[in-house]
Formats: sequence, C-alpha cells, structure tokens
Amino acid sequence: MPPDRPWQDEAACRTLPIEIFFPPAEQEGEVAKTICSGCTVREPCLQAALAAGERFGIWGGLTTEERRVLVARRRARAAAAMVAAGEAPLAAR
Ligand code: SF4
Repeated sequence: MPPDRPWQDEAACRTLPIEIFFPPAEQEGEVAKTICSGCTVREPCLQAALAAGERFGIWGGLTTEERRVLVARRRARAAAAMVAAGEAPLAAR
C-alpha cells in the first residue's frame, strides 16, 4: 500500500478482481461503476486518478472518457474564471 494513498484501505474494490475495473470496452464498465457508487473513498480515488493522469480503467466511478470530459470542463471553467477576473488564460498568452 503506497503511503500516499491510505484511502485505499477503505476501497470497495480492495479484494475484487482488478479486471472488473479494466473492462475491454468503455461501455462495459457498469459492474465497476456500480461498485464505485457505493464506495466510501470514491472522491479521493477519482482525485488521485486525475492527478496521476490515469489513462485506463474505472476510477472513482468514471471511465477514461468521463474523466477526460471532467478535466476538460474544469479547465474551461478555470479559463472562464480567469477571463472574468480580467486575466488571460495560459493558452491565450
Ligand atoms: S471508487 Fe471504485 S475504483 Fe475507486 S477505490 Fe472505490 S471501488 Fe475502487
């Protein structure tokens, strides 16, 4: 257990086959997503996956594509907030 992820001790998936969380196709992750929906450490799991840039698997109840959309939305909101504050987002510099 990595010391930087102590929440994994509480993970609902801790004793389950990892294959459940790495389905062969994006649309086949419903079992994993159901397990994640009842997991008490869903949020730290998702944040860790986002921070690590996990490119595969179901983390925090989200698929790779769902995490990509979430990150894009967060970046768009941050850019909009910068524009509203009179600051140019980094991409515009
Ligand atoms: S949210 Fe899902 S992948 Fe993350 S620890 Fe919980 S069960 Fe595992």
